Amino acid sequence: MAAPDGLPPLREVIAAHGLNPKKSLGQNFLLDLNLTGRIARQALPLDAATVVEVGPGPGGLTRALLAEGARRVVAIEKDPRCIAALEEIAGHYPDRLEIVSADALGIDLAGLAGDGPLKVVANLPYNVGTQLLLNWLTAESWPPVWESLTLMFQKEVAERIVAAPGSRHYGRLGVLAGWRSRSRILFDVSPAAFTPPPKVTSAVVRVVPNDSPEPVPLAALEKVTAAAFGQRRKMLRQSLKTLGGEALLTRVGIDPQRRAETLSVSEFVRLANAL
Ligand code: SAM
Repeated sequence: MAAPDGLPPLREVIAAHGLNPKKSLGQNFLLDLNLTGRIARQALPLDAATVVEVGPGPGGLTRALLAEGARRVVAIEKDPRCIAALEEIAGHYPDRLEIVSADALGIDLAGLAGDGPLKVVANLPYNVGTQLLLNWLTAESWPPVWESLTLMFQKEVAERIVAAPGSRHYGRLGVLAGWRSRSRILFDVSPAAFTPPPKVTSAVVRVVPNDSPEPVPLAALEKVTAAAFGQRRKMLRQSLKTLGGEALLTRVGIDPQRRAETLSVSEFVRLANAL
């Protein structure tokens, strides 16, 4: 029996195209169209948007994005076995789905922008998810080309992205995300929702850019957070020793006895600007 969108059920698509999931590509597929619909709706409105989906796989989330009215979906998939399945979806939604057969790590989102806003929606492959987010957060020109990111991560990674000072999850990723964006966890997704089930719980995160992040050279911010969190249990006068230690901290008015996880994003910015 066809699914509500008139296309075959995902299990049939997977069987017909021999898409036995590959661990090396982080393939944990979502087959429940209610769940993919719920994820797609977090990015509404989609009717004027270009949606970039990384890793469409057999196309469950792709179909949900199109059914929710996305004007244009650009789906970037590394696994060539998935392309024929995605072409069937493209045929069902003429002129609305572009399939890019490539590694998303090598793709600049700016080259995919259309007239309307660009939104990224993806159930990311776990092995490259963090790197993709870092690429999008460290774009040279800011505000970035994307208007929002709606992304599934392992919950532990999601917690590091949204972490605030004082949290045990707060670290380099939280500082970078907090500097350039606002992010929050929308909901958790249990392993049982995936085929095959991963070992851990996942979570959907929504990220929107800060229009005017505090000015600071990215390299300096990365340097100071790497040093501070590299020895997160030590006092900053020790962990930042090679960058100026106590003298640097005193100059910017930060108590040298504090530890990395107590510093706000603004305080890290101040330190980085004083390097
Ligand atoms: N979107 C589908 C879903 O929700 O069922 C599949 C999600 S699965 C977690 C991740 C997908 O990303 C797989 O289809 C995998 O082949 C693809 N993938 C893995 N590494 C990739 C990369 N570097 N660039 C693009 N796609 C990649």
